[in-house]
Amino acid sequence: MRKYSRLYLPLLIGLSLLSLNGVISLLTLPFADLCQVLQGSGKAKMMWESLRIGADPLTTEVGATGALSEKARALLVSALHGTPLIKTAISLETLSDCGTRKLLQTCTDGQSIESVLIPSHKFDRTTLCVSTQLGCDRGCAFCLTGTMGLIRNLTSEEIVSQVFNGLQVVKREKMPALTNIVFMGMGDSGRNMKAVGEAVACLADRERMCMAQSKITISTVGPSPEAFMELAAMPGTLAWSLHAADDAIRKRLVPSTRHTTVQLRDGLMAALATRPALRTRTIMVALTLIDGINDSIEDAQKLADFIRPALAVAPKIALDLIPYNDISVPGFVRPSREKVNAFQAHLREQGFFCSVRVTRGDEESSACGMLATKRLKKSEKKVLSIASAGGGGGGGSSGGLGEEAVAEEEEEEEAVEDLPLLF
Ligand code: SF4
Repeated sequence: MRKYSRLYLPLLIGLSLLSLNGVISLLTLPFADLCQVLQGSGKAKMMWESLRIGADPLTTEVGATGALSEKARALLVSALHGTPLIKTAISLETLSDCGTRKLLQTCTDGQSIESVLIPSHKFDRTTLCVSTQLGCDRGCAFCLTGTMGLIRNLTSEEIVSQVFNGLQVVKREKMPALTNIVFMGMGDSGRNMKAVGEAVACLADRERMCMAQSKITISTVGPSPEAFMELAAMPGTLAWSLHAADDAIRKRLVPSTRHTTVQLRDGLMAALATRPALRTRTIMVALTLIDGINDSIEDAQKLADFIRPALAVAPKIALDLIPYNDISVPGFVRPSREKVNAFQAHLREQGFFCSVRVTRGDEESSACGMLATKRLKKSEKKVLSIASAGGGGGGGSSGGLGEEAVAEEEEEEEAVEDLPLLF
């Protein structure tokens, strides 16, 4: 607590996001606690009105839209104790022909993460894919981020900072409104439960980021059956990266798995059953399809048989097929279009909603964690800007599945309007 002046000490006792070193996580502080810090709900509301439009309440000119009063600003600065409000800064931005923007964001400790903005002009919206960890310990065989290992978990503020920076870019570039957030960047939500829970709560809170619960998708490979229970308690839609119903194949693709697919599926079903409203039980099940490994009709049939029992609990299940994006893993090849189509058609014949993602983003760096692991060369084409590294200004990056996360069968969206997958 030594970082606080005596003036604020009585106000801070009991704040729920007070860290061990006495620094408040102001950006993800529950609204009631923020009101204490800023000495009034009006100032707290003003701060979030500003953040929601992508304006930094500390740098917006006094008197301008979203600007805090001098007094509120002073209170905020005092509570931050020299730390930035926004914990990541955009250090690199790339733009693909389809409009997808990759953002490399630098944290205050100099580490880099990725996030991806994916606009859909057809549906007049933008989706942001955020990272939850620096690296990842799940080691999925097809994933570049998995080769990094886990460097550290991101904080809830670093996750929400990615969203703030995404809002800034969307505003600057006049992109469609940022309405959808997918936790599919670097890392696994199920391995950073506390920070992800705080970030999701902040995003879905009407008094803070105020995003629709149905537009927030929390993705995990499912580290354990119990992990689903914690994730299901968060106000978002769950996405399970299954990759294969067959245990031997899944173990090859997700070598860190310690549970059978049946154990995980049953854990997911039990977790979904705790949600009283049926519409909140909608889930996405993702499969990265790799030629000759998990893309046969037999694999599709196994998947259908495996997933069908879950319909008893989750009446809407979106099967999300992701043709492997070649990043030169020996033995892993993208399946042909025909094979992917046949796989999809088989699942549709079984009555499932099933979509295929189309690649969005720079092919050179569109795989999971590419930007963060490649240490982008300044000469790389399509690089829009390279800002100075260092936290505080805003930034964000991702790298998981999200950069190519566009369902090809977009016309089906109308029929499954509250399914979460359609970016
Ligand atoms: S696919 Fe996701 S869970 Fe698997 S290693 Fe990559 S980042 Fe981690």
